[in-house]
Amino acid sequence: MADDARPITRGFPRPAPTRDAAPFYEAAARGELRFQRCSGCGAFRHYPRPTCPSCLSREFSWELSTGRGVIHTWTIVRGPTLPAFEAKLPYNVVDVLLDEGVHFVSEVLDVAPDEIRAGMRVRAVFEPVDEDLVLVKFRRDD
Ligand SMILES: [Zn+2]
Repeated sequence: MADDARPITRGFPRPAPTRDAAPFYEAAARGELRFQRCSGCGAFRHYPRPTCPSCLSREFSWELSTGRGVIHTWTIVRGPTLPAFEAKLPYNVVDVLLDEGVHFVSEVLDVAPDEIRAGMRVRAVFEPVDEDLVLVKFRRDD
């Protein structure tokens, strides 16, 4: 677990990983960001799924990501939102383009809403929800 991880609110709506996505969450729980990589064409992909969207191969491996990328686009949520998130308002939702070419929707931590920019370098951090769930978030990487 990263030193800069922080616990978040109980009552958080939990993801329900599918059979395809379970290895992603298992890796996150170990502090690893892993994406499926096609054995046929080498393309990374996310969200997890059984078939490569580029070449239709069903062969793949789970590869370790650098965890580094840029903010591709974002929005600021000012409300209304779910009760579990109300104390966080306003918060951001970012589309991070990882260096592997994978888009990943998450949150960038400890950056004011008006400081977020397209192209801002970010790196993955691992945020525990409880003993069974770790989410991948991001921090500035400058
Ligand atoms: Zn492929």
